Amino acid sequence: MKEGISGKAIYRKDYTAYPWDVNRLDLHFEIGSETTVVRAQMEFQLKDGTKSPQAIVLNGSDLQLVSITLNDRVLSGEEYIIEGETLTIPDAPQNCVLRTEVKIHPASNSALEGLYLSGQFLLTQCEAQGFRKITWFPDRPDVMTTYRVTLEADQSEFPVLLSNGNLVDAGELTGGRHWVRWEDPFPKPTYLFALVAGDLALVEDHFTTRSGRDVVLRIYVEAENLDRCEHAMESLVNAMRWDEERFDLEYDLDIYHIVATNDFNMGAMENKSLNIFNSKYVLARPDTATDADYQGIEGVIGHEYFHNWTGNRVTCQDWFQLTLKEGLTVFRDEEFSADMQSRAVKRIRDVRDLRSRQFPEDDGPMAHPIRPDHYVEINNFYTATVYQKGATIIRMYHTLLGEDGFQKGMKLYFERHDGQAVTCDDFLAAMADANGVNLDRFSLWYSQSGTPQVHVSDHYDAATQRYTLKLKQHTPPTHEQKSKQALVLPFALGLLAANGDELPLQFEAEADAATGTRLLIVEEAEQEFIFINIPEAPVPSLFRDYSAPVKVFFDYSPEQLATLIAHDSDAFVRWDAAQRMAEDAILKQCLAHAQGLEMTLDPSLVRAFKGILSDQQADPALLAEAMTLPDEDYLADQMDVVDVDGIHAARKFIKKGLAVELVSLLTARFAKLNDGQPYQKSATAMARRSLKSICLSYLLETSAGESLAATQLESSDNMTDTLAAIKGLILMDSPLAATALSEFESRWKADALVMDKWFIMQAIKPGRKTVDTVRKLMDHPAFSIQNPNKVRSLIGVFSMLNPTGFHTADGSGYTFHADRVIELDGLNPQIAARMASAFNRWKRYDESRKALMKAELQRIAAVDNLSGDVAEIVNNALR
Ligand SMILES: [Zn+2]
Repeated sequence: MKEGISGKAIYRKDYTAYPWDVNRLDLHFEIGSETTVVRAQMEFQLKDGTKSPQAIVLNGSDLQLVSITLNDRVLSGEEYIIEGETLTIPDAPQNCVLRTEVKIHPASNSALEGLYLSGQFLLTQCEAQGFRKITWFPDRPDVMTTYRVTLEADQSEFPVLLSNGNLVDAGELTGGRHWVRWEDPFPKPTYLFALVAGDLALVEDHFTTRSGRDVVLRIYVEAENLDRCEHAMESLVNAMRWDEERFDLEYDLDIYHIVATNDFNMGAMENKSLNIFNSKYVLARPDTATDADYQGIEGVIGHEYFHNWTGNRVTCQDWFQLTLKEGLTVFRDEEFSADMQSRAVKRIRDVRDLRSRQFPEDDGPMAHPIRPDHYVEINNFYTATVYQKGATIIRMYHTLLGEDGFQKGMKLYFERHDGQAVTCDDFLAAMADANGVNLDRFSLWYSQSGTPQVHVSDHYDAATQRYTLKLKQHTPPTHEQKSKQALVLPFALGLLAANGDELPLQFEAEADAATGTRLLIVEEAEQEFIFINIPEAPVPSLFRDYSAPVKVFFDYSPEQLATLIAHDSDAFVRWDAAQRMAEDAILKQCLAHAQGLEMTLDPSLVRAFKGILSDQQADPALLAEAMTLPDEDYLADQMDVVDVDGIHAARKFIKKGLAVELVSLLTARFAKLNDGQPYQKSATAMARRSLKSICLSYLLETSAGESLAATQLESSDNMTDTLAAIKGLILMDSPLAATALSEFESRWKADALVMDKWFIMQAIKPGRKTVDTVRKLMDHPAFSIQNPNKVRSLIGVFSMLNPTGFHTADGSGYTFHADRVIELDGLNPQIAARMASAFNRWKRYDESRKALMKAELQRIAAVDNLSGDVAEIVNNALR
């Protein structure tokens, strides 16, 4: 570790309230791309009961201070202290007005935090701490105030001038300049401030709220994208209606703006009434966006809209509470998508996402509870743990309290805390008080990191017809937390007879048996459940609907798994059983591969997949999920020492084996789904396309696939079918792939979002050669290292989703990637830190790869002036 590279850690226990109220903030911007002048006027008032005098402490970064006055008196250089990112005015009067003027330089801001330039317009990103790059202010979420924002700019260069709240006034100035004024009546923290200035086109719609408020909805995009906003607008209207119906929450202003930009570090940002979106989550047309893109847009539009209550009206006291708004809002967007599409498919995809992104976090150097205790750089804690695991913990409240109880808790939460900055404890208290229950033990989920493991064993006594299930829970130590306690686990259980019938569940003390899923609570390290009147040895259906975010271990026989796959009433368990069976088969062949033995295909797997494929009743999207083999990274997580090449070979062997065995069924199913109907956006049509794509991917393992893919590509009228065909041709090394790629490129070369897909298809190709392809593609005119979407599509996909490419034995993938992290760190530390995390799990590989990755981490750590963002990731990984 080098001195000066690691920033200081900040601890949750050190929180102290800000001593001042800021009653109002007036901002005046003289907008210019090279230089923007920001004048701020703040009214400070010492909080009641605070001892006087107090210092006023403001945050600022990269600001050129022009002047500062206190109660109309210019302060001399001796009357304030600037140190690092703070400006301190000692001994300020109890009531005072502070005015500052600063200059900032948007065009040279490549970090994409604060005010920056994207194409032809200027915009802001303030979460978590970007506001300090705009002006001096207490940049912390517990300082909430009302904003009045005046924007002044050249009319032809910046015809559109937007900020939060309502437009209250506007006018023209001499010299072709104009101004507009926005006022937001709702007090908000700095991270929700936004401004946009530039030449943008718009699409407009209206929504009338339940109580009759007419809300103008506008989506601003660059003019050439006007025909790609329809789905985003429809999603917004659906989200507004859904939140009224399901959560009893209504929109509170007359205007709602969404602005799409190509240059964005994250997915989207919920600034009050002025959401700013990565264009990936706004723009869609059938020929440019896949079904997954459409679903992503619906989810993210919903997510940011739902923040208006869970995040904006009630916000976080400090950044340690990030999951208060994010876990809750992810839960809300998951429920929204579940209600819009297929609940079961949505649940499966969310669990797959949790397992593939969050479980590795728990098992790596950045493990942290959903509410961390300390951080160096808060940007590194926008993690799958805070978001996705946070959402599963909200889901557990919902499971334990039921929909009515959960909604009672939400109601009380808003009654108590509307307009406040609060903590996760306040949320838990509202849920507990509204339902008259004690949730003290449940609160451990907020402070304990790691993925709990639940080992389940059973015993059936035929003579007494008693069935005993024993659960042992254990959470392995994480690097920052060695000892763990037993957690409260909602345990949804069913029992199946061998013929697939659901068996009634009855405890000894009960007079009657109940059929269907039974919700039990596990809260001890070891717990036993005994059921009576069970006529035969049952197949347990465990943690239905994934009722707790745990790893479940039970020694299922292939016959038992087959019973669950074919008959379970719970779609999640059916899918999970198929995954488990495929996982067992692949890992077994991976071992054979390592021992130089011939790989074999288990007939029970073929039978199970045949059953899935023959099911004409089930939702095709569910069948597609069941037929999707576990990905290589997930399989790697199941091994003590990752065998990169063995996993790839075994997974390929199983897929090809299944394809050969089931070729006639696959061909028939594909033909039936490939009915030549024109594109439709409906959930049913999307479900059919998902099964069609998976059938094609299997068929591409056989001699039948290539011509089917070529025909599909030829006749495709939508991006889902097009990509499925080209990806397939690339993966099978077809001579047609090169032509397909070059035709795709010449058609879409001017389209940033579609070109992302072109980069992804090439970065994901397995094997040693891909690192060279990726290096060459960095010189492509459509690539820019300054653009986060491009970095994620080419470099991120290569290092995080292409195991055999990244982990090439000679280490060339590692060296390439470390070079990129170093290059990015000088431009955009947030993105550089995300990329650096590709090395997080280096200790899980063989000695040679370990040594190579460690050397690259050390090389990054040794860079002069490394950002705190990257230093925190790299130093944690090396520790
Ligand atoms: Zn969010």
